[in-house]
Amino acid sequence: MTRPELSLIIPIFNEEAVIPELRRRLQEVMAGLERTVRSWEVVFVDDGSKDKSLAMLKEMSASESRFKVLAFSRNFGHQLAITAGLDRAEGDAVVIIDADLQDPPEVIEEMIAKWREGFDVVYGVRRSRAGETIFKKLTAAAFYRILRIMLGGMAIPVDAGDFRLVGRSVVLTMRSLKEKHRFVRGMVTWVGFKQHALRYDREARFAGETKYPFTKMLRFAMDAITSFSIVPLRFATWLGVFAGVVAGVAALWVTYAKLFRNDTVQGWTTIMIAVALGSSAQLIMIGVLGEYIGRIYEEIKRRPLYVTAEQINFEKDQDSERRGLAPDR
Ligand code: UDP
Ligand code: MG
Repeated sequence: MTRPELSLIIPIFNEEAVIPELRRRLQEVMAGLERTVRSWEVVFVDDGSKDKSLAMLKEMSASESRFKVLAFSRNFGHQLAITAGLDRAEGDAVVIIDADLQDPPEVIEEMIAKWREGFDVVYGVRRSRAGETIFKKLTAAAFYRILRIMLGGMAIPVDAGDFRLVGRSVVLTMRSLKEKHRFVRGMVTWVGFKQHALRYDREARFAGETKYPFTKMLRFAMDAITSFSIVPLRFATWLGVFAGVVAGVAALWVTYAKLFRNDTVQGWTTIMIAVALGSSAQLIMIGVLGEYIGRIYEEIKRRPLYVTAEQINFEKDQDSERRGLAPDR
């Protein structure tokens, strides 16, 4: 079978409230796209849903062979669901989109137009965010800005989510990035190629609750920072250097106080110097250790990233080699 021109990747985690509407909107949008797009597929990645999502997806895929379903054996998280989708999507252009219709599927058409102009990545930038709590907006704004500071050189676009189109060359490169803690939008930026920012209005979630509670958001932020930056590790080194300078000044002062002011207690001077210098030396060494542990950590990412339990409507021959369990992953 020839490869489709367009693939959609849709991660699904407990989205039973959204799926009927998602299906309706997809059918509408895909029908519209068929004017310009030769062929398409939709890869649903069920991230270990505990509700009726998987059953609903199975039912959808029974009547439409271009709806493909990859079901994880448990919840591996949004970023790995996207990764699995990227591993299996066959299209020349691949669009990653949330299930909850916050990213309007209608924008896909604009993305494709830009892709046809020659861009390899067209990423959505949120002009506005409807229906999200002040807390979510504030933490998101802070996150993107802290990340920007942490990353220094590499500028990950602010306020861009995972809603984006990536061309096949980027998809193939993404497949070769095997780290375990994945921050997909950062990795897409890292890959490079010609990228274009497309501004759109993010809508409110169609139905159901956010699947990103605070704990998941925090883990997501930690993964984003630690997988692209060793600034936090270096921080110990700088703190140590700073403590060393302070200790030096303190040593001069207490020596001066001892010799010329005669107002110190016996033994105070030496204890002060020892404590100040000792602790700064320790911090510096922890920082150095951190640097090395950081490097070991960067080398050691070697486990299968996710485990698939079921796959529907995929071609058979890819199954064994491209499962998450393949030996080279
Ligand atoms: N999602 C997932 N696994 C998870 C959490 C979320 O696959 O562990 C999916 C979810 O079904 C949705 C997308 O990721 O399609 C974004 O999640 P959500 O809309 O809840 O996040 P928010 O928009 O609130 O940041
Ligand atoms: Mg959402």
